[in-house]
Amino acid sequence: MAKNREELLRGSLTQSMENYLKAIFEILEHDERATTSSIAERMAIAAPSVTAMVKKLAELKLVSHEPYQGVTLTRAGEMAAIEVVRHHRLIEKYLADALGVPWDLVHDEAEKLEHVISEDLEDRIDGALGHPTVDPHGAPIPARDGTVVRVLANRLADAVGGDTVVVVEVDDRDPNLLRYLGERQLYPGTTVEIVRVEPYGGSTVLRVAGREFAIGRDAVAVIRVAPPEVDTRAQAVRKERRA
Ligand SMILES: [Zn+2]
Repeated sequence: MAKNREELLRGSLTQSMENYLKAIFEILEHDERATTSSIAERMAIAAPSVTAMVKKLAELKLVSHEPYQGVTLTRAGEMAAIEVVRHHRLIEKYLADALGVPWDLVHDEAEKLEHVISEDLEDRIDGALGHPTVDPHGAPIPARDGTVVRVLANRLADAVGGDTVVVVEVDDRDPNLLRYLGERQLYPGTTVEIVRVEPYGGSTVLRVAGREFAIGRDAVAVIRVAPPEVDTRAQAVRKERRA
């Protein structure tokens, strides 16, 4: 296959640059704005290093940095980010579905492999899995052409007592937290009743498959949910895309 400009550009990016572009893309999946400090926090890197790298990426015309808009991806930056994100999420899905790697361990493996697999291997993984559209943590897998189909989700933290919701996505970065959620069946697709939310930042009491339990604020913060009917529609989209 002929290499287009984006593929040529990608070949010249370091793994560190790819990680920054991915982090900015992932912050902007859920937040209105990516700032030097939110990038630093997400990547666990000191703010001055982030500032230096953002400057370098701006010189390469991969990001732009405006005082009140924060850091945004240019089209070239977004395409490069989507490529790495696609690798990451496809690899996670492959490790989980084809090799049985537990959902709390796939992320760290994918962090390494995402930078090194070829486009050919990417296509083979995609084909072997039947062109999946979500990874094991519920995050959308960008299609080959870069389109991303996203289920509109809300923060579980915004749900109130009496709501019934379906888990759409959980943050994939903390293996201990993923194990905690897995023990409580809080996987994407699980229906959850909100029994009550304790005031003043207290715990949230949930009912899942008839079992009632409380989870703390840090666990609530990493879960995104949607009303049951929204999830059904997303499933339909997935099936059509697969056919
Ligand atoms: Zn991951």
